[in-house]
Amino acid sequence: MTITRRELNRAALWLALAGMGAPLRARTQEAMPRWASNPFALGVASGQPRPDSVVLWTRLLPADADDAPARGALTVAHEIFADEQLRHPVARGETVTDASRAFSVHVRAEGLQPQRDYWYRFTCGDAASPVGHTRTAPAGGADVRRLRFALASCQHYEQGWFAAHREIAGRELDFVLFVGDYIYEGSNPEHAVRSHGTRTPHTLDAYRERHALYKRDADLRAAHAAHPWILTWDDHEVVNDYADDRDPAYTDPALFLRRRAAAYRAYFEHMPLALPPQGASMRIHDRFAWGRLAELWTLDCRQYRSHHACADPARDAGRTVVDCEELRDPQRSMLGAGQERWLAQGLAESARPWKLLGQSTQMSATGFDTPEGRSVWTDGWDGYPEARRRLLQGAADAGAHNLVVLGGDVHRHVAADLRVRPNDPRSPVVGSEFVGGSITSRGASRAAMDRMRRDNPDVQHARGDERGHAFVEITPERLQCEFRATRHPVQAEAAFATQAAFVVEAGRAGVQRA
Ligand code: FE
Ligand code: CA
Repeated sequence: MTITRRELNRAALWLALAGMGAPLRARTQEAMPRWASNPFALGVASGQPRPDSVVLWTRLLPADADDAPARGALTVAHEIFADEQLRHPVARGETVTDASRAFSVHVRAEGLQPQRDYWYRFTCGDAASPVGHTRTAPAGGADVRRLRFALASCQHYEQGWFAAHREIAGRELDFVLFVGDYIYEGSNPEHAVRSHGTRTPHTLDAYRERHALYKRDADLRAAHAAHPWILTWDDHEVVNDYADDRDPAYTDPALFLRRRAAAYRAYFEHMPLALPPQGASMRIHDRFAWGRLAELWTLDCRQYRSHHACADPARDAGRTVVDCEELRDPQRSMLGAGQERWLAQGLAESARPWKLLGQSTQMSATGFDTPEGRSVWTDGWDGYPEARRRLLQGAADAGAHNLVVLGGDVHRHVAADLRVRPNDPRSPVVGSEFVGGSITSRGASRAAMDRMRRDNPDVQHARGDERGHAFVEITPERLQCEFRATRHPVQAEAAFATQAAFVVEAGRAGVQRA
């Protein structure tokens, strides 16, 4: 975007006034938009914590009375402070934004100190945003004794209140790891406690509206303002069960990719991420380090995956199959060849003991034994068994003793052992897995989960009848995962309790009840 001379002048004036500590109301009409209502209604967020940087985000949402399109470009200032009282500023800058990017603002704040708390806010004209808190990662070589984060996913707006986010906002954490289904494109009136109020999105404007609706939720805004987030996506950010360029309706791929481009753009516009999409492509997989203690890879399980095995255009793309030859095709991939290589290389290089994979769905096997053979859900890792085998064998070969896979998508809390050959006691346990439940999205019954566990001895724990999230704490000695859950996700004041807790001991793959 080009910045006009007039905008530069306005920016200079703002800086001069701000430098003098002028009260917000004292600024001139021309330089300082006056707002009929605060345009920072979607809150603030931070993400991608590194030792020297974080990404700060906001999106201005001018009310009708403020007539945003007529405003053209807006200059939004950000300020970063070393203290909660905002007495000690450490950085300040400006971003010019406009309607072409939905008045979103993405700032990569650099030159920060490692393992530090920071507070930040945005201002535009006479309006100021809420204050957010963020925290940088420790230096790469730091002797870090503890890492704490929340694991969350799957927040269907219509199926419940975001009470889980209120608890997350109140915890002392290094970050929130959100592994997908941030918005849902579809509706399921059967379980609705509130309504999207709009139809399934297909266009950029419609996806923007959906994201804005979610961010208007006060509890979700609080969790963003409280902690930096590390994000990856699953399917519902675009459409249920999509795989690369194929949607479940078998839409012409060229048309579907236009929709995917709109969905990815709206996603970027609402998230604390640094890299915007290029058309229908967006790099979201990433790598984070926490001192010498832990390394986290966030994976993209949607954009590059092979189409579903043994798909049937007459049904949904993801489905249950019993005998499907295509499953055994070694060419099929969940991550795509490039991301697979990147991950394998990263795992082989990494000297940090705890190796965490933040990804969309459940990696341990979940099929059922039937008289006709083993039934498999083709949308999950069970639908990509050769890719799963390569990943786990590769990690084992690389000597990754403390591999911990963290997932979402399946709307249940899961603790499981990971073997190269699932459920085969002769195949050693090479990793551990936790799925963090779902913030609101409905899950399977207790009976269904008990049956799934009977047919899958690697799964130590599976509960789909409660909603929630997980808190993970990592020390050099062990990883502890606490499943937080509520039986009443449909109440705004839902209270959470610990459903179960598990540990992974350093150097010993597999989950154990705490
Ligand atoms: Fe989901
Ligand atoms: Ca999903």
